Amino acid sequence: MYDINLKSLTKSFGELQAVNDITFSIPKSSVTVLLGPSGCGKTTLMRMIAGLDTPTSGNIFFNDTDVTRVPTKRRNLGMVFQSPVIYKGTSVKHNLELPLLSEKLSSSEIAKRVNDVADLLGISGDLNKMVEELDNGTRQKIAVGRAVARQPQIILFDEPITNIDITAKLELKRSLKEVFSRLSQTIVYVTHDQTEAMTLADQIALMQDGVITQCAPPKEIYEKPNNQFAGWFLGNPGMNFIDEEHINLSGTEITSSLFIQTIEAGAKVSKVKTLGVRAEAINVSSKQTPNSREARVIRKSLGIGGQYLLDLEYGSLKVKARVTHQVGRDVGESVWTVIDSNNIIMFDENSVAI
Ligand code: ATP
Repeated sequence: MYDINLKSLTKSFGELQAVNDITFSIPKSSVTVLLGPSGCGKTTLMRMIAGLDTPTSGNIFFNDTDVTRVPTKRRNLGMVFQSPVIYKGTSVKHNLELPLLSEKLSSSEIAKRVNDVADLLGISGDLNKMVEELDNGTRQKIAVGRAVARQPQIILFDEPITNIDITAKLELKRSLKEVFSRLSQTIVYVTHDQTEAMTLADQIALMQDGVITQCAPPKEIYEKPNNQFAGWFLGNPGMNFIDEEHINLSGTEITSSLFIQTIEAGAKVSKVKTLGVRAEAINVSSKQTPNSREARVIRKSLGIGGQYLLDLEYGSLKVKARVTHQVGRDVGESVWTVIDSNNIIMFDENSVAI
């Protein structure tokens, strides 16, 4: 399989630098998700990897081969777009066969690949149906099948779940997860949806304003964001940030209105401008415990998986805490919280983790 190496890759549209000097490697046989808000340059980056856009400057290598000027059809890749590319007025089976006919494969090889891919996607029972009979999610599975059946070295996905209706979305995401675990191709997947990225990625490349700000496995980027943007963008809710007004820096230690224990930050302490804490890192109790800090519950909501999200107030500081149990306190009442100092991230004046 191919790994993909981008060297100083830039794409400008007039004054706008949609992709700004990216040097980055995508390991072979991995699932790399390009994640970021609308307009950050994800699709432009993917289109250059696909050969659909020419870089303004920089180079793209598949393994050691420079493919920057190689046309799409000679890049040995498959693509799946937001709207499924399928042929209406014909069967699922024929849709899966079509891209293989131009590959000059034997009819037995074509039949094998069609059956294998249908099996992989769980659509074997739909092979003889007309595509018009299928929901949007199953149509997108056919588009995935068409890309996979050709057995390219790289498969690119551009927001394949975005246009799928809500009921089919979950099933398609589950199916893609299964497909990705069984494929050995190098997969690049674009999305603005962080839960999709957390579910599907081996590594998330987080983009902002045309650059990749962090690339790491989902758990690592979630737990150790290397800037405030990553802390905010990943997670639902995003990371809590505690600004200078609510922290005291003295000597080598930090104290805060959010916690009683001190964080030993050593020499780094003078650089600290903001602290970051994940909602689930705040341990909440209905009773006072050693080293706990009192907070008032200002909002309480039931989250996914039976978890509760509490909006807490410590004087003028407000944070969100996630608890897996019913704390037994209502809005307006007090709770006591403790934070393990290992779960606190420090950021400097440029919002970079230190
Ligand atoms: P979205 O999820 O909304 O598609 P994105 O992260 O994929 O966002 P891009 O589509 O890559 O972002 O766009 C990056 C920037 O480049 C945006 O400001 C967009 O308006 C601009 N842009 C993209 N394509 C063109 C084009 N062909 N001509 C001019 N500007 C473009």
